Amino acid sequence: MSNTTVLSPEKRSKPVLKQEIAFIIVHLLPLGALWTGATLFDWILCVALYVGRMLWVTGGYHRYFAHKSYRTSRWFQFVIAWLAQTSAQKGALWWAAHHRHHHRHSDTPADPHSMKIYGFWYSHVGWIVGPDFKETDYKVIGDYAKYPELMWLNKYHLIPPTVLALTVMALGGWVNGGSVLAMFTSAGFSSLFIGFFLSTVILYHGTFSINSIMHKFGKQRYNTGDESRNSLWLALLTLGEGWHNNHHYYETSSRQGFFWWEVDFTWYMLRGLQAVGLIHDLKGVPDHIKFSKDKDHAKELRKQYDASRPPVKPASEKSVEEEHAIQ
Ligand SMILES: [Zn+2]
Ligand SMILES: [Zn+2]
Repeated sequence: MSNTTVLSPEKRSKPVLKQEIAFIIVHLLPLGALWTGATLFDWILCVALYVGRMLWVTGGYHRYFAHKSYRTSRWFQFVIAWLAQTSAQKGALWWAAHHRHHHRHSDTPADPHSMKIYGFWYSHVGWIVGPDFKETDYKVIGDYAKYPELMWLNKYHLIPPTVLALTVMALGGWVNGGSVLAMFTSAGFSSLFIGFFLSTVILYHGTFSINSIMHKFGKQRYNTGDESRNSLWLALLTLGEGWHNNHHYYETSSRQGFFWWEVDFTWYMLRGLQAVGLIHDLKGVPDHIKFSKDKDHAKELRKQYDASRPPVKPASEKSVEEEHAIQ
């Protein structure tokens, strides 16, 4: 329901604990390793599944579905949604629709998760576990809701993480127990608890920290009119999302580190995917945006840059010049 996303502060409902049992159990399941133990393989899986899935939370849910910062084919778009959804952060359409509301209403009462207005816990996790934002607002995500396969995946959003969890158990059975059939013994369960569930929980809080503390800690390069910040350590932890003030200033860019020293691993991955032809039309950051302080300054800079640029010469004239240069 679209009206659920523009609730005033006093109308935000509290979480109903019995509706959130699954979310609580996911947080408790890594403790199962106290009984099964954990192998080096389980810990390697944990790190790999954090890094691998964070890249798709940011490169998929965020930079593709929420912001359309690059283009791709229809089949790879489905792959992107599937990979992002292995993070168990609900459907790509649900995720992106709420994020579009966040940008439209950033740090105002209609923002689904403003730390400035609702405090740390609500912006971090309260809005997700509360009953107000359970539905997908298909009106704001109509550009992707027209694809039936994405609608299907949004509805059955738990299929990708379930398939991944079973694959992790099978791998654990094979590597830890010597046979895939050992997936239902402690060999498979230790991989499930540490490789899958622990990385899923850390991934939750890595992603949630962008919604909460990225609007509180760090520096503001651009005057965006909201509380968004830039932070190197959060950029490292979230593989590029820590340049959040940059992102709020110019949200259509597929890179969030605007300068070469602003580490953005998701951008590097997207560049790689473009190089092999899986995605295309990565949107960059124009200089008048990059070097400005606010939108008025950006307009001024654009005029200056346009005026100082040499006029484009017709192709025929150019070829004469080139001929002279050769002579
Ligand atoms: Zn965004
Ligand atoms: Zn934000």
